Amino acid sequence: MAEVGNELQRHAAEEHQAQTDGFHLVIDALKLNGIENIYGLPGIPVTDLARLAQANGMRVISFRHEQNAGNAAAIAGYLTQKPGVCLTVSAPGFLNGLTALANATTNCFPMILISGSSEREIVDLQQGDYEEMDQLAIARPHAKAAFRVLHAEDIGVGIARAIRAAVSGRPGGVYLDLPAKLLGQSMEAEKGRKSLIKVVDPAPRQLPAPDSIDRAVELLKGAKRPLILLGKGAAYARADEDIRALVEKTGIPYLPMSMAKGLLPDTHPQSASAARSYVLAEADVVLLVGARLNWLLSHGKGKTWGKPKQFIQVDISPTEMDSNVAIAAPVVGDIGSCVSALLDKIGNNFAKPGAEWINAVDERKDKNLAKMAETLAKDTSPMNFHSALRVLKDVVKANPSIPFVNEGANTLDYARAVIDMYEPRKRLDVGTWGVMGVGMGYAVAAAVETGKPVLAVCGDSAFGFSGMEVETICRYNLPICVVVFNNNGVYKGIDKNPTGGSDPAVTMFVPGARYDKMMEAFGGVGHNVTTPQELEAAVNEALRSGKPTLVNAVIDPAAGTESGRLTNLNPQSSASK
Ligand code: ADP
Repeated sequence: MAEVGNELQRHAAEEHQAQTDGFHLVIDALKLNGIENIYGLPGIPVTDLARLAQANGMRVISFRHEQNAGNAAAIAGYLTQKPGVCLTVSAPGFLNGLTALANATTNCFPMILISGSSEREIVDLQQGDYEEMDQLAIARPHAKAAFRVLHAEDIGVGIARAIRAAVSGRPGGVYLDLPAKLLGQSMEAEKGRKSLIKVVDPAPRQLPAPDSIDRAVELLKGAKRPLILLGKGAAYARADEDIRALVEKTGIPYLPMSMAKGLLPDTHPQSASAARSYVLAEADVVLLVGARLNWLLSHGKGKTWGKPKQFIQVDISPTEMDSNVAIAAPVVGDIGSCVSALLDKIGNNFAKPGAEWINAVDERKDKNLAKMAETLAKDTSPMNFHSALRVLKDVVKANPSIPFVNEGANTLDYARAVIDMYEPRKRLDVGTWGVMGVGMGYAVAAAVETGKPVLAVCGDSAFGFSGMEVETICRYNLPICVVVFNNNGVYKGIDKNPTGGSDPAVTMFVPGARYDKMMEAFGGVGHNVTTPQELEAAVNEALRSGKPTLVNAVIDPAAGTESGRLTNLNPQSSASK
């Protein structure tokens, strides 16, 4: 009898082993598709999902706030061309992650926000569940696509669809809703395994039509004052060699958008960055490669664009064409294929632009670079943005392969102009929305995905949005050096309360705050620096040691301008004029 009992038990155990569940199917589906990292925040109902993911060999980075985890996932997607995954709890956690999902979609970064959700039946009848919310409906307008999986056997399809939607065509953010009940559902392991999908060719090449290439090259050939504009779509596409060849073979001056800096080194002789206003106003034919004519480019019209011009636009999204101004030569396809087709058509006999145009650009450049060198050379006490950035410019030059994260108002604008980038996809910044709060999320993912030390330079206001993640940085012992440009406030630190009352002015922070102590509180290294020499020493030490470091760089509170370079977007009340 005992033997029969044992046999039955063994049988039951085997049967048990041969089962899988929603938790494991989600993890297996992600791993099957080469997704190795999850950025998230555990809690009901996804705590065990995070635990099991770690137990099954995924790297799970737990944050202190979902928005930062979401930003990390988004930039991981940009850096790897695989969707970055963010995992959150239901309702409030989901909503916190949603800002990052919307930001990813806006920036064309591939990301999947996976959120646990409460019971469908209760949500749909609005019966008041724990963290009840119709998350799918809320996510939909902010995402490129949104899916919900209700049955364990559909997890493979759900994840395959999410991956394809995130990375194919114009990349973007995808929401995947996983109700708590689904995660606990069990099914036969073998059936489960067979239900998973390894996505084949998730971002298929999209070849441009040959006549669109002919049209574009004809227009380029006829140009007297051509200009190439590279955007972060070009950086994302990883067509680095061909893009460089296109620029060099044509001899056309080029401008990189902020996150396209480094696609070719900013010191490249054809870079027209230092003559930006001049080339935008004067060019007659502009070739846009992975850059939209949105607010960052004054919508392709107005004073910025000066003389009449014709546009050639290379983009994977056909509906991007004519979004702001007429596009004379649309080239629709993936940037790799488009640029390679343009190169083939151009051949080796492309007549480079005439000396008149090139000399005029160089003249402006030399003048502006000399002016900038003069500004940078000035040592001020206390430091201003330029004296502080002078040393960081040299640090980046000496460490060209480290990711450089940058956010703020003045800290962003000045750093973008001063700090040259030398390699593609190293500059990670506020992107299409000009959003603040991406700093620590981006820094964490950049360290995790690249394995390199990371330098993050943030204004004190911007840093505040994600500052608590210094604990995450310390907990995972990531080689991140955060520099906070501390001028005691938003834009500046000298505003006064107009009523003379005891409340500080709305743009003020605690004067003389010591952000470095935050990093020390969690076991990292803190430095408080007041001179360029101290700043340089602290940052170099951090990059050398790889220890989590925060450098509180004391900047003149009177330095900085209102809204950085965006003063024109900030309506002023007549009272404050
Ligand atoms: P920036 O802010 O640098 O000007 P944008 O984000 O405005 O850049 O523009 C990026 C553009 O690149 C988007 O219109 C997007 O559709 C496009 N894009 C992204 N990836 C690719 C790709 N692989 N091939 C072609 N176009 C792409």
